[in-house]
Amino acid sequence: MRKSGIFLIVTLVISAFIVGGIAVVGEATKGKFITIGTGGITGVYYPTGGAICQMLNKKKDTYGIRCTVESTGGSVFNINAVISGDMDFGIAQSDIQFKAYQGIGEWKEKGSQQDLRSVFSLHTEAVTLVAAEDAGIKSITDLKGKKVNIGNPGSGQLQNCMDILPLFGIDIEKDIKAEQAKAAEGPSLLQDGRIDAFFYTVGHPNGAIKEATAGARKARIVPISGEMANAVIKKYPYYVKTVIPMSHYPSAVNKEDVETLGVKATLITSAKVPDDVVYAIVKEVFDNLEDFKTLHPAYAELSREKMLQGLSAPIHPGALKYFKEKGLIKE
Ligand code: GLU
Repeated sequence: MRKSGIFLIVTLVISAFIVGGIAVVGEATKGKFITIGTGGITGVYYPTGGAICQMLNKKKDTYGIRCTVESTGGSVFNINAVISGDMDFGIAQSDIQFKAYQGIGEWKEKGSQQDLRSVFSLHTEAVTLVAAEDAGIKSITDLKGKKVNIGNPGSGQLQNCMDILPLFGIDIEKDIKAEQAKAAEGPSLLQDGRIDAFFYTVGHPNGAIKEATAGARKARIVPISGEMANAVIKKYPYYVKTVIPMSHYPSAVNKEDVETLGVKATLITSAKVPDDVVYAIVKEVFDNLEDFKTLHPAYAELSREKMLQGLSAPIHPGALKYFKEKGLIKE
């Protein structure tokens, strides 16, 4: 009797340890997984998602959040994935974010994406037109009759081509042979002679433009400037003038910096994503901004103040809490 009593106690103690142990392990691994939708791996969105996750994952014990990135088709894809709840965050161009929240362009049929929320903005993206030198393309109007990759469905560049080309007198259906390949394929299509030029709306420097301008087939970056570019800004005020520094691409034919149109990369999320998760991302990136900026040369221009510009959907309350605490936005 006494023996069995001791046995029972021992069994209970061991069981308690096992259950407790499982509970402790459960506690440690418990946590939230979040995904950031980015773009092609040779763009800037993909390393940007990686940089944001890196900041957050350093504090996984504090927040219990594990952050991962996914390579995707780009802005339009990311907005739709965030709205449907397939992803928690995404990177998207400010102009595309504007269209989604307003229910125009790609979202004309579906209407305003009311759950879309801004978190903060990032680097400037330049509408970049790369052309093979042997194709004789020195301005957008020279694209007539050429094979041009205007971007995959889901990408930001496809939307930019639809805004810009008609104002330069180019009918996408009739005047060019338009391809809709992914940006990551643009450089090899150009180098293999299967296209004459491609558009990519992207931060600089980036791997895709390096690859496209460093091959055996000589290539140049073509400006998008002058009266017609002014007309684009007048019609679509979400574009600004920007410059592509050619020091990033020493193998390109043209050596002078290139004037073009720009938008801003922004981090977006859904109103359904909890405030504490959004707060954690903003806090880790903003509190450690100088470290964050070392993670990609395209972030050189970033500052806390600039990262609150170009947000074309309402700011998520989790982000707003941080901005108010730091006085970046007044109560
Ligand atoms: N701006 C591009 C897009 O929205 C992506 C650029 C990048 O991946 O850096 O599709």
